[in-house]
Amino acid sequence: MCREEWGTTEEETTSFIKDANACFHRFKIEACGSYQGYAVIIRDKERNPFLVISRVPEDYVSPFYNELQGVSLALKLAMKHRIFHFFFYCISEDLCEYVKLSWAYKRRCDCPPRDNPRNPEKKLDYCVRCLAYSIYEMGEESNADKILFHIDEIFNDALERQGYPWFDLWATERSAKVVHHLAKSGLDQEMRINEIEEDEKIAEILYKEVYGHGSLQEVMLQMKK
Ligand SMILES: [Zn+2]
Repeated sequence: MCREEWGTTEEETTSFIKDANACFHRFKIEACGSYQGYAVIIRDKERNPFLVISRVPEDYVSPFYNELQGVSLALKLAMKHRIFHFFFYCISEDLCEYVKLSWAYKRRCDCPPRDNPRNPEKKLDYCVRCLAYSIYEMGEESNADKILFHIDEIFNDALERQGYPWFDLWATERSAKVVHHLAKSGLDQEMRINEIEEDEKIAEILYKEVYGHGSLQEVMLQMKK
């Protein structure tokens, strides 16, 4: 699939995602957090990004917490755009390990089901609290409550109807310069393919990352071939 096909409006993007789902297209979703904020990129299987978002949180907690918010946002975007098949990456190995461990052990303790604030008729039958010690080990003890709140929300999203019961998160093994650049941008923004290309700095990093060369001009020449 070529990147021009992703469209420049929400409707166009939605319609292409629908077609791509029908072909079991495997999207790539990346999340990153920094001191300044967090960012999410959704790419097609050739790694062409068609949706990028960066956010500046209202209260500063930690880069770990910011990245967790990025993971939470990424999952919500996947649900919103009905992206069903994807590889989900974050930058921090610590975060990835913590999320994977919590996910694996979410039903292995003896904690009773909890009330579900989103749905009073259905109890939450998984636990995120019993793995909290791994938050302390990462030096995030003072942020534990906020972290647990987001982990709970992520798991709830993943397990709810139309969620992702096979949810998995990987620490990215590739360089992820664009998402890192966006997380550090200190900007609240949402861009589609045309806007991504108009941002010179992002376009430059992006094309180097995806195509292995830096100048936008070079890329334009390549595209015309
Ligand atoms: Zn428990």
